[in-house]
Amino acid sequence: MKREPVPPVSGVAPAGAARQRLWVLGTPVDAVTMAGALAAAEALIRRGQPSMVVTTNPELIMHAQRDPELAGILGRADLVVPDGIGVVWAARLLGHPVPERVPGVELTEGLLALAAQRGYRVYFLGAAEGVADEAARRLAARFPGLIVAGTHHGYFGPEDEPRVVAAVRAAAPHILLVAMGAPRQERWIARNLQQCGVPLNMGVGGSFDVFAGRVRRAPRWVQAAGLEWLYRLVRQPSRARRMLALPRFAVRVLLDAARRNLL
Ligand code: UDP
Repeated sequence: MKREPVPPVSGVAPAGAARQRLWVLGTPVDAVTMAGALAAAEALIRRGQPSMVVTTNPELIMHAQRDPELAGILGRADLVVPDGIGVVWAARLLGHPVPERVPGVELTEGLLALAAQRGYRVYFLGAAEGVADEAARRLAARFPGLIVAGTHHGYFGPEDEPRVVAAVRAAAPHILLVAMGAPRQERWIARNLQQCGVPLNMGVGGSFDVFAGRVRRAPRWVQAAGLEWLYRLVRQPSRARRMLALPRFAVRVLLDAARRNLL
């Protein structure tokens, strides 16, 4: 039986010819720029085999610490971009800086622009009833030529999953965007990757709410200051519990760096 190589807890390993993959607390992060991520995504679409793109952040990495199945899903992802500022910080501290933060919403916008240009069909799955529809409608106006293969909300039970998977498969998109929040969306994609048969699958968190105009992103200066997470906390105080992952993540990374004599 072929064994998967065991990833290092942190450090670097080659991830294909063009980019380096580093490991933060046992989970992968690809050292890519936005442009590099888009080029890698397009290569995956052209390859045609089902693939998965993850936008990683400290919360997701902390989830993976206590969920080996999720850690496995992340480890098998074809492209993992550093979405959270915490991941950029951790990579630098661990001695393998990534070139820049690649925010999921912006990567999604880049992908949609590319899709509109090349004729790639996009399916929007997730968010509350009506939001995926509204997001797709606004995006089609913003990116002329964008082909919306289909939309479906993200609130359905396991009994409806086969029907949703069949709908996605029948729509034959090149790109499936799943906006169900992390790590629900990553698990959904991994579970249905082969049955859906879509070349590029990506979890996009709360992006549909932003595209539909229901949630606003932080102002640019807040983003530039690396404080988008704080803005989201202030706007949605219900996120407070989830935010506890941030200090825990920082402590784990600092301990790991100290163990490696990197401090
Ligand atoms: N959501 C969903 N199905 C669910 C739970 C959540 O489609 O069962 C949607 C929710 O409506 C929202 C998104 O998933 O649009 C989660 O957004 P959040 O900002 O919490 O995700 P994050 O960006 O933090 O991963």
